[in-house]
Amino acid sequence: MSPKLVIVGTVALDDVTTPFGSVTRALGGSAFYGSVAASYWTSVGIVAIVGNDYPDEGFQVLSRRAVDFRGIEKSLEKTFAWTGEYTYDLNTAITKETRLNCLLSFNPKVERYYPNPETLFLANIDPDIQGGILDSLPTRPALVALDTMNYWIDSKRTSLLRVLKKIDLLTINESEARMLTGEFNLVLAARAIRSLGPSMVAIKKGEHGALVFYEGGVFASPAMPLEVVKDPTGAGDSFAGGLLGYLTSHSHRSPELLKQASIIGSVMASFCVSDFGVTGTLSLSMDEISGRIREFGDLTGFGRIDYEERRL
Ligand code: AMP
Repeated sequence: MSPKLVIVGTVALDDVTTPFGSVTRALGGSAFYGSVAASYWTSVGIVAIVGNDYPDEGFQVLSRRAVDFRGIEKSLEKTFAWTGEYTYDLNTAITKETRLNCLLSFNPKVERYYPNPETLFLANIDPDIQGGILDSLPTRPALVALDTMNYWIDSKRTSLLRVLKKIDLLTINESEARMLTGEFNLVLAARAIRSLGPSMVAIKKGEHGALVFYEGGVFASPAMPLEVVKDPTGAGDSFAGGLLGYLTSHSHRSPELLKQASIIGSVMASFCVSDFGVTGTLSLSMDEISGRIREFGDLTGFGRIDYEERRL
């Protein structure tokens, strides 16, 4: 059966240092994190490229989550590799090195592996690749989402602006939303982004959650205040994976569903940051997920507020 949600992006080997430890050659990449998180909610197919140094363990992880990886090409080059660091500001990843390696020769054909996905997530990758995929599809999926980052806003702004015109939902970090639009105020930045194409914009604010702007409103999805946060890498992709997986598992669309989907995104991100790599999201039970959804309910819900006008 063809997966309902197709995620295109990077499958990477990450070297990450945070104040709480470090990992080398950890399984990562935007599509990798996104697929693992989305797999709890809908059927997922991944499209990416890996090099001849990519460990089998990466495929085993995807198998464990029943992610269809027929769409991962194998190259004779090396795997895309990212080196990043976080200081005590866990909201900002400092890129030390980006080695594109096999990504430079990646020209994926989504429909060859997965015809007619309901949702397409163009996770963070070269905007020329994102645009090429969208243009090559025989039919446009009902929902097309995209994520990007400073690296591509800097180096491929024109290509990015071209593909933004054709998508429905952009997920982007707050600093990158500012960088893309030149607007410091996030409400104005979201408005500017919506005028570039996507009707929905999720601005990710790290430990402060996310703001989701849509036609007629904005929804604030918090981040769970956790005792243990080890590594924020992949939180954004896990947020997007959870949000899109949940949306794809429903046949209708409404602002209410979008709000619920954002909470699911925050739930998946909260598991992601609790450990390095995909350790936090790989083996969750539905009980753990339901418990975290309830915690989000407790965090945000409040009863009726009773008050009387105070006459002076
Ligand atoms: P995030 O969810 O934003 O923390 O994304 C983390 C993942 O993005 C890491 O696993 C990296 O391998 C991947 N990554 C880093 N730089 C890039 C880039 N320029 N293009 C695509 N993916 C990247």
